[in-house]
Amino acid sequence: MFPRHQITLLDLSAGLSYLSNQRPSEELTLKTNSWTYPIEPFISIPDYFLSFYDVKNQLISWLCWIVFFVVIFTVLQKKFMKILPGIILAILWFITFCLYVIFLPVNKYYAIPTAPNLALIDFHSHTIYSHDGFATPRYSITWHKRNGFNTWFITDHNSTNGVAVIRDMVQRDKINAKICYGQEISDKYNNHLLVFGLKKLNPPYSTEETKNIVKYVHNNGGAVIVAHWWEDRGSGFEKLYKSGVDGFEIYSHTKKMPAASEILKTIAFCREKNLIMTGGTNWHGWGARNDVWTTVKIEDWQKMQHAEVENIIVNSIRNRKTDMFRTVIIDRNEPKTNLRVVFEPFVGLYYCFIGLNIWQRIVWLLWLSIMLLIIEKHNAFSTEKKNKLISYVYIVLSLFLLFCGILCFIKWGQVAQYNHMLKDCSLFLASLAVLWGLAGAIKR
Ligand SMILES: [Zn+2]
Ligand SMILES: [Zn+2]
Repeated sequence: MFPRHQITLLDLSAGLSYLSNQRPSEELTLKTNSWTYPIEPFISIPDYFLSFYDVKNQLISWLCWIVFFVVIFTVLQKKFMKILPGIILAILWFITFCLYVIFLPVNKYYAIPTAPNLALIDFHSHTIYSHDGFATPRYSITWHKRNGFNTWFITDHNSTNGVAVIRDMVQRDKINAKICYGQEISDKYNNHLLVFGLKKLNPPYSTEETKNIVKYVHNNGGAVIVAHWWEDRGSGFEKLYKSGVDGFEIYSHTKKMPAASEILKTIAFCREKNLIMTGGTNWHGWGARNDVWTTVKIEDWQKMQHAEVENIIVNSIRNRKTDMFRTVIIDRNEPKTNLRVVFEPFVGLYYCFIGLNIWQRIVWLLWLSIMLLIIEKHNAFSTEKKNKLISYVYIVLSLFLLFCGILCFIKWGQVAQYNHMLKDCSLFLASLAVLWGLAGAIKR
């Protein structure tokens, strides 16, 4: 009756056939969190927003369309005085909704391996020990386990302090996971380098030649992978290759995701030079969604110590065992053109809906009916009662945001020497709380 469009797992390492002749992953199966079915719309929408590939422009497109509709409706109702307050309120709602998307701790999909002995690795992740990280060590464990990972590198910016903390937690709680030493640093040319397998790497490296850093890391038993080279920065492929790096990230999350052509170019280059290709989440603690895993087969990895697993992976990178690494991504198989971005809300929601199965669609219908019922009930109230009710909602929202802001600030106190993000975030939450409080007071 309706078109149905399947979301699949794609073996990105198979590379050159990507786009034209896709190879589904043999190593992983994609699973849906089935307990989320009854609240499907509240999970699907954040999942869609978190799949943005050109975050800034897709958000701007949404905001423009929202403002456009607010203006149209107020003009049609001839309430010209309400245009400006209407726009401000809509923007406030949209920002609050974005916070919901970012902080909702429920993911729609996760992956499971088809064979035992398969380590599902995240090669790139951050914690609050990064200046821009939001994830506590505890949340790093929860998030990774929830998304199906069993091994991950903590690659904080210029710090390795998170690893020992997380290893202790994993040990204490008998969690089946291996945590590995990593660090993300930038060199003289602003290449972002992922350094694996080193407990410590002392600054300064931001003024250092790439080849000197690589040499140092190699001499100390570590490995170097170039992070998200597609972000406008750093030296080109050739120069990085000549500096001796062990490989390139072919997929990780950045504000602007790599175009298919850029991924293809990297894969072709890595194949030609026999370089390692890895996938990482570059997760900083925002959003429950993940769409990339790298698998490496390691016999009996479960029985090993953290350091043993780490050694095997790092040595495989250094010895360029390229066949061991397979990067798998969720493919939404959607158009990614500029025209799409202009009409983002319509195109995006369309693809969001046709990705649903029959049960999920029924749940959507049920929730839409409930919404309509609530609106109808609400409209039957007198203006005075309506305003009172809305004012309550705004004030509760304001108090909740303030509470989150305070929690955030307390967390920041523990890592103040490394972290900016938690402080900025607590200020942002507090400002938003003030705005909602004001809106509530005005409505009264
Ligand atoms: Zn960062
Ligand atoms: Zn990063």
